Amino acid sequence: MTEKKIVLPGDKLSTSEELLSGDGTFEEDGIIRSSQVGTYVVDNQNKRAKVKAVTSMPVLLKRGDIVLAEVRMMRSSMIIADVIHVIGSKRGISGDTNGTLRVSEISKGYVKDPSDAFSLGDIFRARVTQVKPSIQLETKDNEFGVIKGFCSKCRNSLIKKDNILECKNCGNKERRLTSNDFGTFDPNNL
Ligand SMILES: [Zn+2]
Repeated sequence: MTEKKIVLPGDKLSTSEELLSGDGTFEEDGIIRSSQVGTYVVDNQNKRAKVKAVTSMPVLLKRGDIVLAEVRMMRSSMIIADVIHVIGSKRGISGDTNGTLRVSEISKGYVKDPSDAFSLGDIFRARVTQVKPSIQLETKDNEFGVIKGFCSKCRNSLIKKDNILECKNCGNKERRLTSNDFGTFDPNNL
């Protein structure tokens, strides 16, 4: 029996030497990573790594929901993010998941450019402030911000050292607006 473990997009699951990439995963430079929030399972018969969606019955986003989102696009005045999980819900999300985080909604302090706080592929916690006509997000409290960041050079996970994030693999240093539980966030408590 394999222990059930909740994983996030980008999490390292295995290597292409050990397993093949199955549903809900992708392979990059010999590393198999998760492409979604879900339960990591190993199909031993077919030697495949898979990530199954947390459950099948989807939930609609509501104003006030606390969510996890993944940065998909960086603009000068906003970031576009895909809402990937509603905190406290064991269900997937139905309908539109394409959210916007405007630069004025990032922090209580002044943020000049979204790239001072976020980077492509980051996973962050946010509050939904609007769902119609478009999903709007904000990250103005300490619990909000990046919970998991990836090195912009080599895509390995970043670790927090003092107030700077550093890549364990290549030593690259990066800046983010981090949540107060960056590095200790446990997806199994989703
Ligand atoms: Zn790196």
